[in-house]
Amino acid sequence: MRMILITSKLFNYLSCYNLTMKTDLITRFVINKSSIRGNIIRIKNSLAQLKKSLEIPEQVVSSFNEIVTVCPMLAATLKFEGGLILQIQGKKSLKLIIAESDNDFKIRGTIKLADNTKESFQDLIQDAIVALTVIHKDQKTPYQGIIEVGSGEIKSMIEHYLTQSMQIKSKVFFHQTNTESFGVLFQELPHENEEQRLITESLWNDIDLIKPDTLSDGHEEFLKNIFSQNDVQIFEEHSVEHECSCNQEKIYKTISLIQENEIYSSIKNNCIEMVCEYCQKKYTVTKEEIDIIFNKTQRLN
Ligand SMILES: [Zn+2]
Repeated sequence: MRMILITSKLFNYLSCYNLTMKTDLITRFVINKSSIRGNIIRIKNSLAQLKKSLEIPEQVVSSFNEIVTVCPMLAATLKFEGGLILQIQGKKSLKLIIAESDNDFKIRGTIKLADNTKESFQDLIQDAIVALTVIHKDQKTPYQGIIEVGSGEIKSMIEHYLTQSMQIKSKVFFHQTNTESFGVLFQELPHENEEQRLITESLWNDIDLIKPDTLSDGHEEFLKNIFSQNDVQIFEEHSVEHECSCNQEKIYKTISLIQENEIYSSIKNNCIEMVCEYCQKKYTVTKEEIDIIFNKTQRLN
């Protein structure tokens, strides 16, 4: 009897623990009998970790959150091992925004703005180049597409890119609270028959009536409320994590791409310090290692 009591207490504890952990998840879904599929995401801890060392002006935060949120949503549509990078390169106050997700939903990102930037994100992005790079693990050359800026709203940029350039009719919705970021992507695949086409067309119109703030109700609740008359098939949840893929080897590679004299002139106390621009992790590379990188002595093991 005592054992059972302990076990149920433990079980309660574990289920509470699980509930509190279920904040960073992405889930694929299909609406049965229609040609609509998609994915739905909720991130909190991974987003907080990603932004921990970044300085983001208040008026840019929500767009930056959307950029980070949409990367795993796009990665969820990949049918191969790899990942994607959303890169925004501006000419004036907005220097750079990068957000990445691999097909395991490991995310990382960074932002660089001029000091004391006061402009809105929509103004900052107007002269920027926005590129989406898709990396296929087994292919040498990544595919890069340019996203039209338009009004500078992330939702319409992504919808326009997927619908026009990728030729897949798509709708995206975002919602944020103080700590969490939510997103949902709907895509319309080619119809298999007339019945499927009719069902899809009517549902596609319903999607426009979505109130994005209901995304915080939870994945199942949200989808079942919109498609109450239809079967929604929700697949296994995947966790989304903040993880930077930087390592010492990649730092050596970066050094080898920089001018030799530039590297040697920055040596202080017999080493140089490099900082990962995504996670701010510090790497130390000694003069001996630099010599090996530039073939001054024998190769690194
Ligand atoms: Zn890093």
